Amino acid sequence: MRPKKSPVIRERFGVLLHSIRFRLVLWFTAILAVILFAFSAFLFYTQSRNLQEEAIHELDRRVTGLVTNVQTALLQGDGQTSLPNGLLRDTDVFILLSPEGTVLASQGPIPVQEAIQIVSAGLQTTPRTGESSAIYWTGPNSQNYAFIIAPVQSPLGINFLIIFGGILDPSALIRRFLLTLVAGSLLTLAVALAGGFWLADRAMRPVKTITQAARTIGETDLSRRLNMKSKDELGELANTFDAMLARLQAAFERQRQFVADASHELRTPLTIINLETSRAIASRRSPQEYQHALSIIHGENDFMTSLVNDLLTLARMDAGQTTIEKTPLDLSDVAVETVERLTALATRNGVTLEAGNLPETHILGDRQYLLQMLSNLVENAIKYTTGDVKRVCVETGKADGSAWVRVSDTGPGIAPEHIPHLFDRFYRVDKARTRAGEAESDPEAPSGSGLGLSIVQWIAKVHGGEVRVESAPGVGTTFEVRFKAV
Ligand code: ADP
Repeated sequence: MRPKKSPVIRERFGVLLHSIRFRLVLWFTAILAVILFAFSAFLFYTQSRNLQEEAIHELDRRVTGLVTNVQTALLQGDGQTSLPNGLLRDTDVFILLSPEGTVLASQGPIPVQEAIQIVSAGLQTTPRTGESSAIYWTGPNSQNYAFIIAPVQSPLGINFLIIFGGILDPSALIRRFLLTLVAGSLLTLAVALAGGFWLADRAMRPVKTITQAARTIGETDLSRRLNMKSKDELGELANTFDAMLARLQAAFERQRQFVADASHELRTPLTIINLETSRAIASRRSPQEYQHALSIIHGENDFMTSLVNDLLTLARMDAGQTTIEKTPLDLSDVAVETVERLTALATRNGVTLEAGNLPETHILGDRQYLLQMLSNLVENAIKYTTGDVKRVCVETGKADGSAWVRVSDTGPGIAPEHIPHLFDRFYRVDKARTRAGEAESDPEAPSGSGLGLSIVQWIAKVHGGEVRVESAPGVGTTFEVRFKAV
């Protein structure tokens, strides 16, 4: 009974069979084998013809010598002739025939009658194309003979005939040549196969490194890099892989930060609600105290609702689940609608909300998203404007092929060091004032989650627009969004 192959060996063999290395070598060897075969066949065909022709020419040359020799003998012997012994080899067949067909002289390993029969049979099948056309015959010892018939004219004008047969050496030469070709080809293929495996193995080694490194990279540890220095295609692949890892790591980090920040933001209002309810139910309170507690809870509830809405909006934006339907619209219409919607809020905050210069400004955009963008900017302006004169102005206009909308306020302004971070998620200029320690902080202080401007920037971006901020501390702030005008 044959021992069964172990599953490990079978698995390894399967892996090898499916490896690029193996298939590469196999293809390479197969192509080389086809080329070698074609080349050898061509070489064999041309060389064997050459050798054959060379051998026949040699026989022809010998026949010419024989003819001259026989002619001389006829001249001297006047019709009597003898064998041209010096010119004949033991294996040669030589027959001299008189015009009547009588054998005048003969020699050779083949009986005369048989030789004549071979020649006359050959004459019927082989077309006579020239003087050197030969009749081929293979003897019992597998010796290949070529027979040549040559006329000899005696001095008296009588036509004699020579039948000459010689062994054709090329067949042995050709066999040797064929053997060399086959052996050479097989050796080349074996060397190519071994060399191919070695080369493919070397070339594929970096792939193994990449695979092993990729295996060690876990979801929580994306800090590993391949750091391959080579400049070839695999080096390029490794660099692309490293760059992808860096992007993934940054994305994971952002995601983690986002979840941590969101939880943190929700924890504060939840703590405040918990605190207020505990305080209210701990002992009997006056109706005013209950009302105060409820209004704080209500405020926190509003905050959480807006925070959750903003989080949802950003999550949808990140997941690419938002559909933006751009249609031609007038930016000044969007500005007017925003001012109308937020006038009540402005009045409640003691802010004068004005619609400034609003010429027709056409762009391609999604009305709902643009309304949200402008509302966020105006709400911020209302929220953060303090002082005696509280004024917020919305304007639109066109310049150099672009359309813009501006929201300016007479608020406290933003210090230059905060401006680069304004659009970061959860970034707030004055954290202490807005949310942290809320229970103890000024209840009149504006509260925000730090997500509004991130949403503004995202909406501007999907419309091919750009947000700019200009702010002078103590004077006011202007937010401007620029789009391509149509
Ligand atoms: P928030 O929900 O806190 O308003 P935003 O992303 O809209 O979040 O704004 C980020 C921060 O930028 C705000 O916390 C605030 O400090 C500052 N900010 C935004 N708009 C203005 C403004 N018009 N004037 C002064 N500060 C502003």
